[in-house]
Amino acid sequence: MARLLIILLSLVCLMVVPACQPVQQSSSQDKIGVVVTILPQQEFVTAVGGDRVYVTVMVPPGASPHTYEVTPAQMALLSKARLYAKVGTPVEFELTWLEKLIAQNRDMLVVDCSKGIGLVESSDEHEPGMDPHIWTSLKNAVVMVSNICQGLVQVDPSGRSYYEQNRDAYIARLNALDGEIEASLKDIKNHAFIVYHPSWGYFARDYGLQQLAIEEGGKEPQAAYMVRLIQEAKNKNIKVIFVSPEFSTRNAETIAAEIGGRVVAIDPLAGDYLDNMRKVAGAFKEALK
Ligand SMILES: [Zn+2]
Repeated sequence: MARLLIILLSLVCLMVVPACQPVQQSSSQDKIGVVVTILPQQEFVTAVGGDRVYVTVMVPPGASPHTYEVTPAQMALLSKARLYAKVGTPVEFELTWLEKLIAQNRDMLVVDCSKGIGLVESSDEHEPGMDPHIWTSLKNAVVMVSNICQGLVQVDPSGRSYYEQNRDAYIARLNALDGEIEASLKDIKNHAFIVYHPSWGYFARDYGLQQLAIEEGGKEPQAAYMVRLIQEAKNKNIKVIFVSPEFSTRNAETIAAEIGGRVVAIDPLAGDYLDNMRKVAGAFKEALK
């Protein structure tokens, strides 16, 4: 009886173990390895690539892409990637990683998600330059998704029709939400808003809003600038100060207290892009009504 049990058990093991191993390995090895810089791009790549791709994000949740340093372990993990979808806007953060990544992986295709997107001036008046946060516009997201699709087709031509179908379906959802938000913000009374880190420049452009940044040159503001901002907030009847999770809320709270307003958190780097943009639009509607 005991011998029979042992034989049965070893038979079960033989059946289970080999069946399990290849499944585990195929989860990343058989798929097209794609690396992106920030979480919103992960949804873009997954939407287009579906089960043909395996996506890795460089900047983890809660970290700022402006300051994040990629670890050597991350670098090693990424050495087999076939495609790097960079944000591509004029910020330094991606450049140092990319140089290292490309040196490690010369076969990797680099796609610039910003190709074809018209950049706007940053709202941080003390740090002139172009606003790098292109993904906070649904209209820009359409272009980013198209660029990602082109890259996927280039590294995996046999998936072309699959990728293009997925791209069209996702772009339809982006356009639908864009129209929804435009309609929902049509009747707002106030158009100016204050935010600690000016991530929402393209969102503001799309819906006729005016973004005022608390940051000065990407740093904590000086007292004189805070005084001016508080006056401007009072003049423009601003009642909500927006903050994002990766920055301190201290200055935002000071201004909110001075103007009798409140601080509201919205996340420009959330991974669930469409859901998050809908949530953000709701916060803007509530703040600007
Ligand atoms: Zn930023």
